[in-house]
Amino acid sequence: MALLNSEDWYDIARDTNWTPRYVSEQALFPKELSDVLEMPLELLETFDEPYKVTYRDYVKTQREKDVGAYSVKAALARSQMYENASPGWKALLQMHFGAVSFLEYHSVSAFARMTRFGRAPGMRNMATFGSLDEMRHAQVHLYFAYEYLAKSRTFDWAQKAPRTDNWVIISERHTFDDLEHTRDAISAAIMTNFAFETAFTNLQFIALSADAANCGDFSFSTMLQSIQSDEARHAQIGEPLLKMMIDSGRKAEAQKLIDISFWRCWKQFSALSGTCMDYYTPLDKREGSFKEFMNEWILDQFVAKLEDMGMEKPWYWDLLLEDIEVFHHAQQLGIYLYRPTEWWHPIAGTNPAERAWLEEKYPGWNDTFGQVWDVIIENIRAGRLDSTIPKTLPMLCNMHGLELTGVPGRKWNLKDHTLDYQGRRYHFQSVVDKWIFEQEPERYAGHLSLIDRVAQGIVAPDGVMEHMNMAPEEYGIEGTNYAWVEAYDDALTTRRATGT
Ligand code: MN
Ligand code: MN
Repeated sequence: MALLNSEDWYDIARDTNWTPRYVSEQALFPKELSDVLEMPLELLETFDEPYKVTYRDYVKTQREKDVGAYSVKAALARSQMYENASPGWKALLQMHFGAVSFLEYHSVSAFARMTRFGRAPGMRNMATFGSLDEMRHAQVHLYFAYEYLAKSRTFDWAQKAPRTDNWVIISERHTFDDLEHTRDAISAAIMTNFAFETAFTNLQFIALSADAANCGDFSFSTMLQSIQSDEARHAQIGEPLLKMMIDSGRKAEAQKLIDISFWRCWKQFSALSGTCMDYYTPLDKREGSFKEFMNEWILDQFVAKLEDMGMEKPWYWDLLLEDIEVFHHAQQLGIYLYRPTEWWHPIAGTNPAERAWLEEKYPGWNDTFGQVWDVIIENIRAGRLDSTIPKTLPMLCNMHGLELTGVPGRKWNLKDHTLDYQGRRYHFQSVVDKWIFEQEPERYAGHLSLIDRVAQGIVAPDGVMEHMNMAPEEYGIEGTNYAWVEAYDDALTTRRATGT
């Protein structure tokens, strides 16, 4: 018997909506979980996924992807890549696997919620494949990290991270729980599939994959590419929904979801990928600066897509452009100084050659962030290592959960944006973080940052490391054992010899 072509049966087979008789439509799809904006069902049923795939074809393609990623890994198992990698690349891998594995795993349930509560059959179909994809991403991450465990216990954090209250993990969880897990299926799809996956995963998985290939880390590079090919499909769940929201007069609501999600993702990617690209990746292996990647992948491509669909740039666009110049540089300082609180082994990435590159890519870097590094360098060279680790806890932003930072040096501009709500004072890095809180205070008000926990006496100041589930052997240590400052000895000798 001849098989039908998939286009002859796909639309009929995936049309799985019916009128429930034993329970009400509202009981089956409560609006809080399905669609708070209550778009008409007839409209939702027109959801037509741009990328149609059948289960059989899906399995075949995914199997090939897995074979590709795992066989590159197997072929390179004895390559000593990790042993020979620079301290920065090691730090990047350690940070990546601890920070990303659980996000992949959590995304399984984010898609499962869309599968259960989405009211459009096409959306449910796509989300089902999305869940399976994220399972694959979580598995490939855990498998790769497990292989590295024999080389460094930092990779234990691929498994351990989600069950800890480490400050980096709290910040990530707060962000992605907000986007992926605590909203109705449609809002979650706009925030996750459209804003996060369309805009940002390219940056993480294509740009970082290029850097990985340059570093000779082909198994990591292949793994990232294999993941990104799925992310591109997930991104397509958001577009038809966004169009429906616009067509049914819900554009303002859609815009707000995008504005919130885009900013929250920006903060995460800036702190984690920004530091990896501009400080951890070896200088001669960098494909571009973080800012250049942001310009190409986010500012150009994402904005073109937004405008194509009839949406506006987020209202804080000018602030974002300023933030691209500074935020990850400030976070890099904080990450380096507070290194014992991180599971990875951070490096400075600011030897004389690296500084010249930073100054070229971010004019003014030496007069601002460079001034703080000067003090750190002086302390290390004088053997005052203790002075390079702060004795007090940093202020954390009550929205992004990372250190509340500004620009140091000649352009000093640190400002704490506060808000009093129901007897409690909240602190924010920027007007955007504060604006997000103000949109729905009750959603965010109950959260306690690590600092709030100490301030309220829930955690004793000397119990912070234990509260973060960090055993003394897990405290982050300087990734180069301070060897990077030696380059400054040479620089100084040359300067003295030449009298410059
Ligand atoms: Mn994924
Ligand atoms: Mn995804």
